[in-house]
Amino acid sequence: MAKVILLVLGLLLAYWVLRGYRRRIDSNDAPSAGAAEDMVRCERCGVHLPRSESVAAQGRHYCSVEHRERQSG
Ligand SMILES: [Zn+2]
Repeated sequence: MAKVILLVLGLLLAYWVLRGYRRRIDSNDAPSAGAAEDMVRCERCGVHLPRSESVAAQGRHYCSVEHRERQSG
């Protein structure tokens, strides 16, 4: 009998862990789920890149300094 209880507990645990894991993957995929890092779009060429790698100027984001210079000039 104890074996059955252990089996059920094991299945519940596996189900719970898998559900949490899937939710984490889903939240990474969702565009507006408040992921670890925001993605921004270059105003010049439209490429998407992480905010930390972007060049910001006047509230806009660019993929490189070169694109920022061209936009403002
Ligand atoms: Zn660009």
